[in-house]
Amino acid sequence: MYGLIKEELRQKLSAIRTEGLYKDERVIATPQDAAIRVVGGKEVLNFCANNYLGLANNAEIRAAAEAAMEEWGYGMASVRFICGTQSPHKLLERRIAEFLGTEDAILFSSCFDANGAVFEPLLDENCAIITDSLNHASIIDGVRLCKAKRFVFKHADMRDIEETDPDTGKVAKGLERCLKDASDARIRMIATDGVFSMDGDIADLKSICALAEKYDALVMVDDSHATGFTGATGRGTWEHCGVKGRVDIITTTFGKALGGASGGVIAARKEIVEYMRQKARPYLFSNTVAPSIVGGTLKALELLSASTALRDKLEANTRRFREKMTAAGFDIRPGVHPICPVMLYDEKLAHDMADALLEEGIYVIGFSFPVVPRGKARIRVQISAAHEPGQIDFAVEAFTKVGRRLGVIKA
Ligand code: PLP
Repeated sequence: MYGLIKEELRQKLSAIRTEGLYKDERVIATPQDAAIRVVGGKEVLNFCANNYLGLANNAEIRAAAEAAMEEWGYGMASVRFICGTQSPHKLLERRIAEFLGTEDAILFSSCFDANGAVFEPLLDENCAIITDSLNHASIIDGVRLCKAKRFVFKHADMRDIEETDPDTGKVAKGLERCLKDASDARIRMIATDGVFSMDGDIADLKSICALAEKYDALVMVDDSHATGFTGATGRGTWEHCGVKGRVDIITTTFGKALGGASGGVIAARKEIVEYMRQKARPYLFSNTVAPSIVGGTLKALELLSASTALRDKLEANTRRFREKMTAAGFDIRPGVHPICPVMLYDEKLAHDMADALLEEGIYVIGFSFPVVPRGKARIRVQISAAHEPGQIDFAVEAFTKVGRRLGVIKA
C-alpha cells in the first residue's frame, strides 16, 4: 500500500523543489541571539528571529527557568484539569492577564493552539466570524474548526464596499460591508492579527473597535507580534491604538518577545476564559506548559513590567534601520514595526539576495509565494533589542553592497 503514496509524495516533493518553494532548515550551532553561528558556517548577525526583545537567551530568564525546573520538576505529564496545574501556572495566568489588561487568561502549549481553541466553543452555525484576509494560518485553521459563517474582508480595508481587487482579480469586501452582510447572525466576531507577520503592519484597532461597537460585534486580536513591545509600555496593539478595554479576546504567544520558548494564551473577559476551561479542546486534550517555561515567562513579564528599556531600544533600533535603508534607496514597507519587509518583488532575486547577504554575514530569509502574494517577494528583516547600533549599521552596509551588485539600488 505504501508504494502508491510514496510515489505520489516523491512527485509532490519534486514539484515543490522545481517551483523553488522547498523549505530547507539551516541548523544553528549556538543559542538564539543577535549573533549566531550556522552549522558549517561562520558567525553571522541574525535578522530573522522573532527575538524582538533579545530575551531568548537572557541570563535572568534562564536562571528563573532552571529554578522553576528544580522546584517544580521537568514535566507535568498531564493536561491541566487532570493533574497538570501547579501554583505557577495559576500565577502566570494572573500575571499575563494583568500585563494584557484583561480580566483573566488561560494557558495553551502554543498560540497556534490558542487560536485553534478560541472560536469553536463560542460560535455556532448561527454566528459569524469576520476575518482579515491576511490573518495568520492558526486563525484560519481555528475558524475552519468552528461552524460559524465566515466573512473575509480585504486586508485592512475598513470600508462599506465591494469591489474587484486589482491584485487578485477577485471580488473583495471591506470590513463594514462584511459586518452588514453578517447582520442576521446571532453573534458576530471580528478576528484580526494585531500585527501582520509578513508586512509588519499594525491593525487599525481604533476603526475595528468603532465598527464592532456600531454593529455589535466582538473583537478578537492575535497579538503574537506585538506583546511585550508594541505600545508605550509594550502591552500590545491595543495600547498602540489607544483602545484599552475595547478588545474582548487577545491571543498571544510566549514564543516570540517573551523569551521565545513556547506557550500561548487566551486573555479575555472572565466568562470567556471560564468557558474555555470547560470547552477548549487543545486545553482539555493536550499537555500543560512545562514548569521551566512557566518560570521563564513569569520572569520575562517581571522584567518588562519593571522597565520599558528593551522596547525603547527596539524602537530606536527599528527607526535607525528603517531610516538608513530608506536613505540607501531600498523600498521598505512603511511603518514603525520591527518587521521591516525589504520589497524586491522578484522571487528569484529575493532568494539570491538572501544568500548573498549570508555570505556578507547577515542572516535573513527571502519570502515568496505562497507565503506572500505572487510578485510581492521580499526579504523580511526583523530587528531586535539585542542588536547594537553598530550591528544595524553593518547590516545596512551589507544590504547596500549586495543591493548595488544585484541592481536593486543604484550603484
Ligand atoms: N499567531 C501569529 C500571528 C504568529 O505569527 C504565530 C507564529 O508564527 C502564531 C500565532 C503561532 O504562535 P506559536 O508559535 O505560539 O504557536
